[in-house]
Parts: sequence; C-alpha cells; structure tokens
Amino acid sequence: MPRPEEIQIKGRLTPQRDLSALTWLRVGGPADYLFQPADTADLADFLRQLDADVPVFVMGVGSNLIVRDGGIRGVVIRLGRGFNGIEVAGQVVTAGAAMLDAHVAKRAAEAGVDLTFLRTIPGAIGGAGRLKAGCYRSYTAGVVPSATAGPRSGGIETLGATELGFAYRHSDLPEGCVITEVTLTGPAGDPDELAARMADQLAKRDATQPTKERSAGSTFRNPAGFSSTGRADDVHDLKAWKLIDDAGLRGHRHGGAKMSEKHSNFMINAGGATGADLEELGEEVRKKVFQDRGIELEWEIMRVGDPAPE
Ligand SMILES: Cc1cc2nc3c(=O)[nH]c(=O)nc-3n(C[C@H](O)[C@H](O)[C@H](O)COP(=O)(O)OP(=O)(O)OC[C@H]3O[C@@H](n4cnc5c(N)ncnc54)[C@H](O)[C@@H]3O)c2cc1C
Repeated sequence: MPRPEEIQIKGRLTPQRDLSALTWLRVGGPADYLFQPADTADLADFLRQLDADVPVFVMGVGSNLIVRDGGIRGVVIRLGRGFNGIEVAGQVVTAGAAMLDAHVAKRAAEAGVDLTFLRTIPGAIGGAGRLKAGCYRSYTAGVVPSATAGPRSGGIETLGATELGFAYRHSDLPEGCVITEVTLTGPAGDPDELAARMADQLAKRDATQPTKERSAGSTFRNPAGFSSTGRADDVHDLKAWKLIDDAGLRGHRHGGAKMSEKHSNFMINAGGATGADLEELGEEVRKKVFQDRGIELEWEIMRVGDPAPE
C-alpha cells in the first residue's frame, strides 16, 4: 500500500506542516503530512490508495481544537476551495464542508431560510456536522437531514441523520471519515428580520465572550447538560463558568494560557502559550472544581496529537 507521498494527487500534500497557524488558539506541532484535496474525487482516490495503517485526522478551521505541541502523526486532511460551494433550493441548503458556518447562515438568510444560529459559530460546516454545533437553543442535529462523506477506505457515501448518529457535541462518524458536504433545512423567515437577528446575536457574543481573543469556545461542558440551551433544567449553579468563578479561577494563568476575565469558561492564548500550557491550565481548573464541589468538568475543546517530545 502506498505512503502518502507516493499517491498521485490533484491537490496539495505538505510534509511536516506546522499546524499552529491553522488553529484558533495558535498552538500545535507539525502534522507528518497535511493533505488539501482539490475536490471530492481527489479526496476519495487518496483515501482509497493510502496505506490503511496511516492514521487520518480531519480538521476544519481549528476553532474547537488544542493541537498538542508534538503535532499529529499520519495525515491531517483540511478541506479548502474545492469544498466551498453553496446552493439554496426552497428550504434546503447544500453547503460544501469548508464553507464557514457564518457564510452558510448569511447565504441562507438572504434566501429566506433561518439558520441564523450558525452565524456566530466560527467553525466550518463540516465540523458543525460532525460535532453537532449549536447555540441559542438550536443545534445542527435539528437541521441536518444528511451529509456526504468520504470514508477512510475511499469512496463517497451519503449519510442520513441516523447514520450521523447525533448526540451532544459528538456524532458517531468513524475517525478519519471526512464530511464533504452538508444538507441543512431551516424554517422560512423574512431576510431583513433574519439579518437583524444575526446582528443582535453578534453583538450579544461580543458583549459576553472574548471574541477578539484567541480561544476555542467553551472549554468545558455545562455539567447540567447542553450549553446555552436555556432549558429549564440548565440550572445556573451547574454552569461551567459559575463553577470556575466559584473556584476563584476567573483570570487564572498558567504560562501563556489564561481563563478569560470576560467569560471564565473560555480559555485564551494570552500570548506565547503552548498546547501544554492550555491543557495543563484546563486540568488545574478541573482539579480545583472537583476538590471544591465534587463535580468533574468534561472538556468541550478537543485535544489531539502528541505531547512535545521530552
Ligand atoms: C469564539 C468561539 C465561540 C464558539 N462558540 C460556539 C458555540 O456557540 N457553539 C458551538 O457548538 N461551538 C462553538 N465554538 C466551537 C467551534 O467553533 C465549533 O465546535 C465548530 O463547529 C468547530 O468547527 P471547526 O471547523 O473549527 O472544527 P475543528 O475545530 O477543526 O474540528 C473539530 C472536530 O470536527 C472534526 N471535523 C472538522 N471538519 C470535519 C469534516 N469536514 N469531516 C469530519 N470531521 C470534521 C474534527 O476532526 C474534530 O473532531 C466556538 C469557538 C470559538 C473560538
């Protein structure tokens, strides 16, 4: 079976590609290879030919990731220009997986389709499909009837909602399976009203979250369940930010990593942080909250890759 560099491709394969510039937190060591396929056929051909022992990790725009300082072994796949199309037909929006959530929301709104909740999520729609992204009481699971994906073994498949197996911030997609296109449906809405709602949501985010800093969104899940759903059982006392505040850790630093002063469940790269600084800060927070309250906070940010070599 061929190694990555032996496969004929139309896109780009870069060995030893530093990943820090590709993550929102600006941390992470190199990928053995970064593959940016030209299109769906290029992706499927590459995966079909690739030695089955080579691990594959798919990244979107890195807004939910701490990539560790030793980087990622095997091939990291990142979709780009060839996966940026969008079409709206009636209430159905079909978007290439590299399309940013914000662009999907804007294009849908212009066509009178309400996917406004996606406007303030900084990821790409492929990651949203995988992770069941959401906010303002709406989640991708509610609006994604199907997705197209390239399985690790090659080929292209259409997956229905059941196969996508949505669960909170996680779908059952096998590791290495690349979502290439996502189909979404939303209720009808007046384009001007949808635009106004999105402007409100952006303003609300800017007022309450460190949107201008390098972060990866909420660090931990709310122990009560869903983040920001506003559900009756989503009690204040079990909000991750409140537990972190009560533990006295708002603004707490570890190396270049810091729990934000503006929103204590957001961890930021305050300057020169390493992946280890961020992960260790998170573990310090988990330990203190557990000591104080007996509650184990669960990471919401994904940590991937290897630690820096000793
Ligand atoms: C300021 C800020 C605010 C945020 N607010 C929210 C919020 O309100 N709600 C929310 O849900 N999230 C939020 N996030 C987190 C993040 O934006 C979402 O989780 C987003 O969906 C991640 O998308 P991404 O493209 O960055 O994926 P990445 O972070 O690159 O990857 C995340 C996961 O998705 C997988 N993945 C990515 N693309 C694909 C693909 N094409 N096929 C298969 N798997 C793929 C990766 O393998 C990985 O497992 C926020 C982040 C920031 C920085």
